[in-house]
Parts: sequence; C-alpha cells; structure tokens
Amino acid sequence: TSELGAFAESRARFISAEASTGVTFDDFAGHEYVKRELKEVVKLLKKTDEFEGLDVYCPKGILLFGPPGTGKTLLAKAIAGEAGVPFFAINGSEFVEMFSGVAAARVMDLWARARQAAPCIIFIDEIDAIAAARGGPDVGGGGAEREAGLMQILTELDGFKVSTEQILLVGATNRKDLLDPALMRKGRIDKIINIGLPTEEGRLAILKVHARNKAFKSEEEKEKLLEEVVEETENASGAELANILNEAGLLCVRRDKTYIEREDLQEAMKRQEGEFETGLEDIVEYPPEVRIQAAYREAAVAILECYYPNPHRPFVKTDILDIESNINMEYTETRHNIFSRKSDYVSSIVRACAPRIIEEQIFGVDHLSWLSGAALTEAGIYAEKLMLQTSMTALGKIYYGTNADVMVHLRRKIQALRDEYVRFGVEKCTSVLREYRSAVENIADILLEKNEIMADEIWDIFRKAPRIPQPPVVA
Ligand code: ADP
Repeated sequence: TSELGAFAESRARFISAEASTGVTFDDFAGHEYVKRELKEVVKLLKKTDEFEGLDVYCPKGILLFGPPGTGKTLLAKAIAGEAGVPFFAINGSEFVEMFSGVAAARVMDLWARARQAAPCIIFIDEIDAIAAARGGPDVGGGGAEREAGLMQILTELDGFKVSTEQILLVGATNRKDLLDPALMRKGRIDKIINIGLPTEEGRLAILKVHARNKAFKSEEEKEKLLEEVVEETENASGAELANILNEAGLLCVRRDKTYIEREDLQEAMKRQEGEFETGLEDIVEYPPEVRIQAAYREAAVAILECYYPNPHRPFVKTDILDIESNINMEYTETRHNIFSRKSDYVSSIVRACAPRIIEEQIFGVDHLSWLSGAALTEAGIYAEKLMLQTSMTALGKIYYGTNADVMVHLRRKIQALRDEYVRFGVEKCTSVLREYRSAVENIADILLEKNEIMADEIWDIFRKAPRIPQPPVVA
C-alpha cells in the first residue's frame, strides 16, 4: 500500500464499528432511574411516531461519568442496542497520537463515517484525554494536538442538523472535573449522568444478570448465595462483580462440579482481592484430635451466641481453619448504637466461658487446652468491667475506673464478687451446653466435614434442636 493508504488505514483502525451491539437495558443492572431516563433518549433516537410533529429532538450528547468498571461502556452499547442503531467507538487517548495534526482529522473521519450510518451512536471512552480544559495542565503533553481535536468535536456537534442527521455522542470519563466547560454547553453534551458504584440492591441486580446462564443447585440456593456475595462486596464495581461470578464458574468446572457452590464464590471473592488459595489440600493439617477440639469450641460458642445473642455484633459464620486462635466466628457490626443493659454484660460473661465448659464436658479435665484457661480469664475481665465501670452491681453506684488492683481496700470485695459472677457464668454456661448438647454435636460435625458453617444454619440447628431439661441456675 502507498504511504497515504497506510495512513488512512491506521486512522480507520482506531474506530471500532458495530452494526448492532445486541446489548439491551436488561444487561445493565442497577441504576434504574438512569435507564428510565435513557429510555426516552432511545425513543427519540428511533424517531418513534410518538414525537411526530412535536418540536422535540434527541440530545446531541450525553456524558456518563463514574469510576472504572461501573458499566459506562455497557450502557452506551445498550442505548445503541435498544434503539437498533450502529455503534462507533473510539478511545479518547487514541486520538492524541505521535503525528501532529492527526487528532482533528480523526474526529472528522469519525463523524464522516457516522453521518453515513445515521441515526447512530458515537462513543468516546476516556473523553477527558481529548476534551480536557484548554489552558489546563498539559498532562502527558500533546496540548496543542488535543486542543485541535476538541475544537473539531465542538465543530461537529454544532454543525449537524438535528432533524436530519441523528448522531448521539456518548462520552465516558471518570474525571469530569478535567473536561472543558465548552463541551458541556447546552446544545452540545447537555445530559450528564452520574454512574457511581452500585448500591446493595444494585449489586444484587448485577450479580443476577451475570448469573443468568450459570448453574446453581436451585433457584433458592442461587438467591441465597448471591445475597451472601452482596454482603461481602461493599464498594465493588459492576465489572468486579461480573468477574467474581465468572471466576466462580471456572472454579466450579475445575473442581469437576455441575453447579456453583458457596466455596467457589468465596474463593472467587478472595481472588478478586488478590488473595490466591491453591486449594483446600494446602491448608495445614492439624492432628485430628486438635481439629475435633477446635470444632467443639466453635460449636459451643455458636450455641451460646444463639442463646444470648449479642445485639452489637451478630455473627456471620464460624470456621475451624485457624485452630490456634481462640474463636473464629466472624461478626457484623450493627449500625445502630444499642445501649448495653446489665443483662448484656452478664451474658457476655456466660458466653466467654463456653470454650472451657465444652472441653471439660466432652474431653474431660485432663484434656483441657490452653484456650480453656484464656476463656475463664476473659469471663473474669468482663465481670470486673461490669463491677467497676457500670455502677450496676452490689459493689455500689460508683465508677471505679479500669484497674481493680489499685483499690487495695476493695480488693477482697471485688475478688469475691468477680468470682461470684464467674461462678454464675460457669454454671449457666454448663447448663446451656448440657441442654443443647445435640445441637453442639451437630454443629461440630458440620465443621469437621466442611471447616465452616454459616449463621443461618447454626440458627436453624439451634431452633430445631431437641433439648435436655436442666435445673435452673441461681445467680
Ligand atoms: P466502564 O466503561 O464504566 O469502565 P464497562 O462497561 O467496561 O465499565 O464494564 C465492564 C463489564 O462489567 C461489563 O461488560 C459488564 O460485564 C460488567 N458490568 C459493569 N457494570 C454493570 C452493570 N451495572 N450491570 C451489569 N454488568 C455490569
């Protein structure tokens, strides 16, 4: 080819053209109000009879702004797909190239092609690369080049006659602040749409779109698992959510399964955050008796959490992968500020005793682990906090501060009362764990099999458990 031919070709290469994108508004989830707004633009672009004789025209330009991966490109394609018009796309940074004088020529080229295909959409991604404010900081050089490109865009926008050549320019950026205000004047890009990170509802909707063609055990299971992903993906973009489902699908295939399960999604989320796990076989193998003991400790704490729910921190799940730490339950913080009552302090004393009590009940005093001791120390600390810092006990309506040892004259009284609380904690905890023995065993078995168990399953077991009646414990 001649030099000129090669040049023309290189110009054309930057534009990607699709006669039909095949994307619809159903593919773009969340941001319902945006879709509602754009449905009207679609109608105008299609020139439906509805507007016949009325002096209304499709806007010339729309700006979509928001962080990367929020679906701006997808949405632009959906507008084209819904209207059934061709889609021309180009990246703003590609306008500005090594040859000077090319940017303006590329803009002209683009519009020339679009005009022949009108009605159609021109999509410029990273529009800030070319339409940055004139006279602003010259990031990356090419200031004059860019300016020529921008001037040409303005000329094209002002030049065409709305009624005959329907071309909709859709620009996307995550730096709206950089854009030249001239571009956003009325009659140019006069619709600005903010596409932020999806809300909780939005995340679920996006996950559902991307789970459409994926296999789950059942519809209910799918719903439940997706809701769990929503809980754990605050601040994720649509692209990240799509990626999680894609990755989970791949893991599922690699594990030779026919449908996606929780473990696939959990691992996909970890990968999304850059944590890689080579698979369960790589987890440190603890001796079986150590795992069993850990499973029972977790199970006992889980039952106590159900018996005395902590209003500040409902739990999410528990696991036995980290056997050396005391308790592996995960908690979600509640948003409201709930005041603790005296009974809440007392329940925390009872709960704290659980690892010790269960080890004694199941494995016997000779097999108590170091963590058992830690449990009762914790119970004692809670008791002291209650006595010294809340003025709610027999120690008096006084705030004593944080250090019980300083109060020499009170030491005996404090110790006696603390022991009394811990004794009550031990007895109450013993009674609860005897009463719910079968539930504890049930949960421990699941932990031993799967390493983890979610809060709803624990609650279910707790509610349905056959209970063994116990004599009342007196405080
Ligand atoms: P942007 O242009 O904002 O950087 P993209 O449109 O390229 O984002 O998004 C990348 C991919 O992420 C999309 O192709 C789609 O698979 C997924 N995605 C992002 N946002 C959404 C959304 N709101 N609904 C459905 N999928 C989405």
